[in-house]
Amino acid sequence: MTESRNVVIVTGIPGVGKTTVINTAVEQMKKEHGEDVLVLNLGTEMFEIATKAGHVKNRDEMRRLPTAIQRETQRKAGEEIAKKSKKGKVIVDTHTLIQTNNGFLIGLPEWVVTAINPKTLVLVEAESEKIASRRSGDETRTRDEQAVKDIQIHQEMCRAAAVSVGTITGATVRIIKNREGLVEEAASELADTLME
Ligand code: ATP
Ligand code: MG
Repeated sequence: MTESRNVVIVTGIPGVGKTTVINTAVEQMKKEHGEDVLVLNLGTEMFEIATKAGHVKNRDEMRRLPTAIQRETQRKAGEEIAKKSKKGKVIVDTHTLIQTNNGFLIGLPEWVVTAINPKTLVLVEAESEKIASRRSGDETRTRDEQAVKDIQIHQEMCRAAAVSVGTITGATVRIIKNREGLVEEAASELADTLME
């Protein structure tokens, strides 16, 4: 029997437009294909698991948990996502690399992507200058300031992280450009990936 993979992981640096592209693609999927897509967030899944286990009461306590518990929670979140994807198409909105004071933290370690077993890893990219202006123009969020050249390096590192997910899981890796004012175009590429 051929295995069926229902999960598309959508990554990209903060402010590139992942959530905007995902929400538009979900609307297109409903309108054009009559398909419901479940959107999940790895961090939210982890928080729910840690809360049920009595490890935390709020989200900020998460990053202060012993790393062994954090890793175990990450793995369980991956398994939970895999379980939910048995019923239909799922998008996971997440980051492959998180910038810390001590370099990049891996958002999708091996034991998490192995549990999720994605069909495709989508990397949303945009021009670095545009990402800087999207971040400063987004009044709904408080975002860290980052120089344009650091945004560029972060995007290059995300390509490497995306390819490593493909290497571990056999998922395809698709780069989708989120051009200024053209969210619909990027969303339609994401919808194509979901329908494949
Ligand atoms: P995070 O990783 O921090 O959640 P994100 O990648 O999900 O970020 P969004 O919140 O979707 O980013 O978008 C950031 C800002 O950029 C929002 O104000 C959004 O309206 C704007 N934006 C997204 N895509 C485009 C686009 N193609 N053209 C212009 N503005 C855009
Ligand atoms: Mg987002």
